[in-house]
Amino acid sequence: MIARPHARAFARGAGFVGEAVARVIAIANQKGGVGKTTTAINLAVAIAESGRRVLLVDLDPQGNATSGIISREDAAELRRANRTIYEAIVGGTPIAEVVRQARPNLMLVPAGDDLVGAEIELVAMEGRERRLRALLEPLLPEYNYVLIDTPPSLGILTLNALVAADSVLVPMQCEYYALEGLSSLLGTINKVKMALRPALELEGLVLTMFDSRNRLSHEISDEVRKHFPEKVFRSVIPRSVRLSESPSHGLSVLEYESKSAGAEGYRALAKEIIGDKPAVDEQGGEGFRMRNPWVSRILGVGKK
Ligand code: ADP
Ligand code: MG
Repeated sequence: MIARPHARAFARGAGFVGEAVARVIAIANQKGGVGKTTTAINLAVAIAESGRRVLLVDLDPQGNATSGIISREDAAELRRANRTIYEAIVGGTPIAEVVRQARPNLMLVPAGDDLVGAEIELVAMEGRERRLRALLEPLLPEYNYVLIDTPPSLGILTLNALVAADSVLVPMQCEYYALEGLSSLLGTINKVKMALRPALELEGLVLTMFDSRNRLSHEISDEVRKHFPEKVFRSVIPRSVRLSESPSHGLSVLEYESKSAGAEGYRALAKEIIGDKPAVDEQGGEGFRMRNPWVSRILGVGKK
């Protein structure tokens, strides 16, 4: 059975936390295979599990966030029925018609391979970088968080995600070339901030596929933290077979194996993002709540 269509009753019902409109977080890194989709799915479920209302937007033509959170059959059925983000972003279908309930506190805007065409079609369209933002804006009061999974490129789809976002979360795989390409991503974020979306912040970098027995993982972690002090989440996502298995069941790892290290990693990350942690950590260093000073530094704007 296909997940139920978006119901107005979802808005402001029991369990809504806070009054503010949703914080929109784009999950981006132009490298493929670094854990963007895994982070999008599991972070969405972890935040939803804490009682917040979450909208997961799949903006990757590969549709992995979609097939990882609903069944493969349901994902294929939505694609056949043209109930995907493509229809909304290019075709003009109201977004409410493509939003699906995936879990009690978690709604999904699914993607399918039709989205491949959007990269080309959007180029010729008016307000091409702002189309996702325009679609999402009316939905924001209904959610606490909107997470956008993006494709592994800095094309027009990722640009739409950045313009729609309040912040960017960058998953970084703990491997030798982890830092490679990061400067072009940060450069793109900076350009978007200057030209299109002044409010855009860096949510932070999150280390993924961390293998505590592997010295390289520790070295990469140290290196990234040295280069970007105060910009790397304390929570680290371990390399875990459970994390790679769970999407084939249409489940997050929190549901597939709730007590696994991967599940705990994403719960801890969710806590940091939600801000349950104190602003200053035990060592007296700056915590993650203090976003602005380092965001301005890294993006090279404002006071140095
Ligand atoms: P991206 O969206 O950046 O391309 P994915 O989230 O799809 O990356 O991850 C790439 C591959 O690595 C997938 O097969 C996924 O299941 C696996 N993977 C992601 N994170 C982990 C992890 N922490 N441990 C083990 N496998 C992982
Ligand atoms: Mg992906």
